[in-house]
Amino acid sequence: MEVVFWGVRGSIPTPGKDFSVYGGNTSCVEIKFSDYSLIFDMGSGLKNLGDSLIERKVNNFDILISHFHYDHTCGLPFFKPAFLKESSFSLRGGRKDILEILDSQISSPSFPITIHEFKANIKYENFKVGDNFFLKKNIKISTLALNHPDGAVGYRVEHEGKVVCYITDHEHKENTKNTDLIKFIENSDLLIYDSTYKDDEFSNYVGWGHSTWQEGVRISNYSNVKKYFIFHHNPDNKDEDMKKIENESKLLGSNIVVAKEGMCVKI
Ligand SMILES: [Zn+2]
Ligand SMILES: [Zn+2]
Repeated sequence: MEVVFWGVRGSIPTPGKDFSVYGGNTSCVEIKFSDYSLIFDMGSGLKNLGDSLIERKVNNFDILISHFHYDHTCGLPFFKPAFLKESSFSLRGGRKDILEILDSQISSPSFPITIHEFKANIKYENFKVGDNFFLKKNIKISTLALNHPDGAVGYRVEHEGKVVCYITDHEHKENTKNTDLIKFIENSDLLIYDSTYKDDEFSNYVGWGHSTWQEGVRISNYSNVKKYFIFHHNPDNKDEDMKKIENESKLLGSNIVVAKEGMCVKI
C-alpha cells in the first residue's frame, strides 16, 4: 500500500506563498494498491487526484466520504473521471441520502452544473456507521462514528496485515480516554488524525468539532500506532506555524509526521 496526501488542509483551501510548503488543498487522501485505489474524501485536493488518475489510466477505485461539510466535498464537481463514460466507481458514506446531499450542494444558484451531468457510472452506496464491509481485493473497512457537528465517520482499512486509519473530523473530550476510538485505531501502521488545534487553544473551540495534534499523540501512544500523521491543518496556520508544530511534535516522538500535500508514504 502507498498513501498519497492530495489535500491536508481543513475547513477552507488556503492557496498562496504562505501555505506552499504544507499545502492549501482540503481533505483528500489516496491509498494506492497495485491496480486499485481507495480515496478518502473529496476536498479540493480531489481535483489534482482526478487529473492524476486519468494520467495514470487508473479507473478502478472507490471513494469513502467522512462527512458532507464543503471542505470534504467541494472537489467533486472538478473531478474529471466523473465526466468520463468509461469511469465506474462508488461513492460511499454513512448516510442514506448521499445522492440528495451532493445534488443539493452542486446545484443552482450555487453551482452552474448538476451531478446529473456526470457521465460516469457512479454508485451511491451507504452503510450503517459502526458496520464493517469489504471492498475489492479483500480490503476490510471498519467504520466508527466520530464526534462532529452533523456527524462524521472514521475509517480503518486492513489489507494483507497492514492497517491505515483515517480519523477526521473529530472533537475529543479533554482529560477523557476515548476507549472506543483507542480500540478502533489499535496497532495501526499509519494514523491520519484531525489535528486542527493545539492543546493550549482548544478551550476556545469546544463544540467546533475538531481535535488537537497533542491529542493525536496521546491516542497514538495508547493504541500502539506506528506512524501518526498530523492532518486537517488549521487554515490560520501558515507554513511558519506548521513548522513550529512539526518541531514541537518531533520532541515527543520520531513517529509523528506533519502531513504535507504531495507526500507519498509506503507501508
Ligand atoms: Zn473538515
Ligand atoms: Zn467537518
